[in-house]
Amino acid sequence: MTGTLSRDTGSAAPVDERLGAEARDFLARPHRLLIGGQWVDAADGRTFGTYDPATGNEITQVAHGGPEDVDRAVAAARRTFDDGAWATMKPREREQILWRIGDLLDAKAELFGQIEALDNGKSVGIATAVDVAWAADVFRYYAGWATKIEGSTVPVSMPFAGDKQFHAYTQRVPVGVCGQIIPWNFPLLMAAWKLGPALATGNTLVLKPAEQTPLTALLLGEVCQEAGVPDGVVNIITGFGDAGAAISGHDDVDKVAFTGSTEVGKLIVDAAKGNLKKVSLELGGKSANIVFADCDWDAAVAGSVAAWMFNHGQACTAGTRLYVEDSIYEEFTQAVADAASQATIGHGLDPDTVLGPVVDQDQFDKVSYYLRAGIEDGGRALTGGARHGDTGFFIQPTVFVDVKPEDRVVKEEIFGPVVSALRFTDVEDAVRQANDSMYGLAAGVWTKDLSKAHQVASRLQAGSVWVNQYNGFDTAMPFGGFKQSGWGRELGAGALDLYTQTRSVNIQL
Ligand code: NAP
Ligand code: MG
Repeated sequence: MTGTLSRDTGSAAPVDERLGAEARDFLARPHRLLIGGQWVDAADGRTFGTYDPATGNEITQVAHGGPEDVDRAVAAARRTFDDGAWATMKPREREQILWRIGDLLDAKAELFGQIEALDNGKSVGIATAVDVAWAADVFRYYAGWATKIEGSTVPVSMPFAGDKQFHAYTQRVPVGVCGQIIPWNFPLLMAAWKLGPALATGNTLVLKPAEQTPLTALLLGEVCQEAGVPDGVVNIITGFGDAGAAISGHDDVDKVAFTGSTEVGKLIVDAAKGNLKKVSLELGGKSANIVFADCDWDAAVAGSVAAWMFNHGQACTAGTRLYVEDSIYEEFTQAVADAASQATIGHGLDPDTVLGPVVDQDQFDKVSYYLRAGIEDGGRALTGGARHGDTGFFIQPTVFVDVKPEDRVVKEEIFGPVVSALRFTDVEDAVRQANDSMYGLAAGVWTKDLSKAHQVASRLQAGSVWVNQYNGFDTAMPFGGFKQSGWGRELGAGALDLYTQTRSVNIQL
């Protein structure tokens, strides 16, 4: 599925009038790999195109890093880790560098927002206000942790040591060289989630952005340099799945952190076996959003639309199984369809755009397959069901009703603006149906009954539960999956555990 697209069909884009001077300047520069503090071409000189999903036009060419480049990047990260300067730098200095990254992201928010909108397709307003602003927040949050990575003293008993005395303590030390492989749906933000805790704890890293959206990772690399991150700490390899595979199978990588499909997540686990590197995974989802008849109607309608339409449905947490209490099913699903069909669809750089295109031809074909599957399996589209327009990868927001639990659109992750609405009779039925999934990433609950909200939340097999809201993220709240949605938790203090290991020291006095 990855790396196989023929990119020959895209034609070079005229410079987009909506881009500012800084964005044009960035696009006009060469886009190279960041290895050991130098911007370098791929070892074999290859490049590949990255495309505007709203038009199919090529935006620019980017260095095509392969396994040989991964070797060079890992070697640089290893040298830098082993020389110890980064891990033993005063925590306060690491804190200040991370804080500066946050400040620079804010200062360059327009540039980052425009490049993200162009490369990914999302609205520039959302890219700036959510993706860039939150990425800055993540760096500042982990800046604060750099000075607080503490071990503990342990009052040991040592029963076989007579009356000798001991001083025992633990240290939390970095894991080492980290490989970080990220997807295209939140390109900058996923890079921030990965870099923030890894850098705060003194690791060095090799980051591989997705082939569809390599550009803001390169801008972030420049920002890291400007903020004072020493050479060789952050290395960036743009490329395809073979570069990701080279990272996850590399014997000199101590840990791999991956966000993407469950399918590739399993390949990462296999590849990591060679040197038993540590693995953390944020994978797919098919999240349940449960609406009780006693909900706040307007909030539940708006929130239930945003739950699956945000980011054009390309969110691992997307609330794409909409469970509605029997008594309000017809009226509620119609209200959701009506609201969804009002969304302004357009180019990410148009200020009015709410819904942009899906990211590429592969994703467009995948979503189109599910639009057909929904009907073939007996469902009915209350709104949508087809592409929007005839250029770019736009899909109409689509609400399927009359679907059954075993339908493909109910069971499988679509990653497009498509929701499937099912009925439930009572709390038992809602919880049973919501938990009937191989995934367990997130869930929503809408009710004014506080007791019911708590009871349902505590029974949902999901890493995040949002009540009377959806996608209620915070940098301080752990995020990750139950079941096949992943291993480990990102964000919050818990992410520090992914990037540190404990050393026990016991001294006989
Ligand atoms: P994907 O293949 O899992 O891509 C995620 C990252 O893994 C990309 O950087 C990708 O590189 C890299 N990769 C691909 N093959 C690899 C391998 N064998 N070893 C190591 N790394 C590898 O996801 P996708 O193909 O872009 O999207 C497919 C589906 O995944 C979507 O339709 C959606 O259902 C799901 N998805 C989930 C999330 C999430 O946040 N949980 C995000 C994106 C997609 P290249 O892309 O450069 O080849
Ligand atoms: Mg891919």
